[in-house]
Amino acid sequence: MLGLEGNDEVNLIPRPPVVTIMGHVDHGKTSLLDAIRSTDVVRGEAGGITQHIGAYQVNLASGNKITFLDTPGHAAFTEMRLRGATVTDVVVLVVAADDGIMEQTIEAINHAKASQVPIIVAINKVDKPDSNPDRVKQELLQHELVVEDMGGDILCIEVSAKARTGLDKLEEAILLQAELLELKANPDRSAIGTVIESKLDKGRGSIATVLVQKGTLKVGDIFVTGNESGRVRALMNERGQQVDSAGPSLPVEVLGLNGTPNAGDDFVVVESEAKAREIAAYRGHRDRELAVAAAGR
Ligand code: GDP
Repeated sequence: MLGLEGNDEVNLIPRPPVVTIMGHVDHGKTSLLDAIRSTDVVRGEAGGITQHIGAYQVNLASGNKITFLDTPGHAAFTEMRLRGATVTDVVVLVVAADDGIMEQTIEAINHAKASQVPIIVAINKVDKPDSNPDRVKQELLQHELVVEDMGGDILCIEVSAKARTGLDKLEEAILLQAELLELKANPDRSAIGTVIESKLDKGRGSIATVLVQKGTLKVGDIFVTGNESGRVRALMNERGQQVDSAGPSLPVEVLGLNGTPNAGDDFVVVESEAKAREIAAYRGHRDRELAVAAAGR
């Protein structure tokens, strides 16, 4: 193992669920994310300018937290899955109540099923006069999604991202689903996570948004991510504020990379710079060998 492990069995404590919102274009994914984000109780007090870092955590009035991945479209989800990264605990499938199930809705259902991630349905735009939630529920049956009020076990919530109704019910449903999944992680070990997105910033160098999945990531930690290594120079939350550490299910921007990793790459804290360089070099070498082999085929 790469990480410096603590006793994972003993130290497991509940962690917030990580949610991806999927659905057909224009059914309201962005609007719903924005509406949910506005329910964050810490947001107003903490201030700071919200910036896009691909993921953020919402603090609910109940004290619970939910992490949302804000990745554009299904491509990122599929890409990460192909790279073997499973970061999503729950998929919220947004279906517009006036439009019903469309091509990309079916695509999203298939992605979620293939990665065995539970689906919660959010029937959106119920404020519209021509909305028809019952028709959506009927259509879901054709894709083997049987919602609760039709005798199944799929949680289904009617919402309006525009009128901001049903959001608390949707958040409750996510937390209920999370409870059933018994999501736990050990915060008392070196961090392991996944890169959600990355960029090269002119002033600050390579920056990656990392979702911590186990352990706690701290400033000063030495890490390997993809074929790159580095030492954490600073950690920033989605408000652009510096933080000292990030525990399980918390997304943070990491500064201090020697190169730019890819979305879906792992992110592992190791004990020394020598070890980090060794692993990164090995991985780089392996990738070049694979490329040569593929070219020769
Ligand atoms: P996305 O492509 O799935 O991210 O969809 P958007 O969030 O961009 O929404 C597409 C359009 O639907 C926009 O014009 C939104 O203003 C509108 N919309 C989103 N949610 C609602 C809603 O709850 N009610 C109504 N009436 N319109 C909505």
